[in-house]
Amino acid sequence: MSRKVHSSEVYQAVMNKLTERGVPLEAIADIVYEMQVPYKADLRKEVCMESVLAVLEKRELQHAILVGVELDTLAEKNILSEPLLSIVKADEGLFGCDETLALGSVFGYGSIALTTFGYLDKQKIGIIKSLDNEGGEHCHTFLDDIVCAIAAAAAGRLAHRIRDEDEEVDGS
Ligand code: MG
Repeated sequence: MSRKVHSSEVYQAVMNKLTERGVPLEAIADIVYEMQVPYKADLRKEVCMESVLAVLEKRELQHAILVGVELDTLAEKNILSEPLLSIVKADEGLFGCDETLALGSVFGYGSIALTTFGYLDKQKIGIIKSLDNEGGEHCHTFLDDIVCAIAAAAAGRLAHRIRDEDEEVDGS
């Protein structure tokens, strides 16, 4: 019989995986800050972190993180079957499944999240660049795109919050 997985177990697994894979949430919040500070000069890092934590509670993103990290980890252990193993380990530019998995998880966050994802995927700022450059026994084929997705979702969410707050201040 299949086991029913509780949401808290999934959330905890996501947090553990990100830590194990060397992705501090602060590094994602830094990217969110960089994406949104041009639109709000007094933006605080804590607000960016709140947004990161909020998007990490969403199942679409949680599941993409678990699938992506699992595939990277299996590739590192050489236990994917060929030819997928070699494709994932080589992080082939035309593979595309890493971007598709990550992109699919931000659909719920609107156009700002989607365009931010595309920007981050190309520009690879902050920890995304470090993950992309780290070779050797590490495989981050999925993880770099997953981090783009978390940052893009958090930035998209924040952009809408900032607008709502501005309207409250204006009384409009
Ligand atoms: Mg990738």
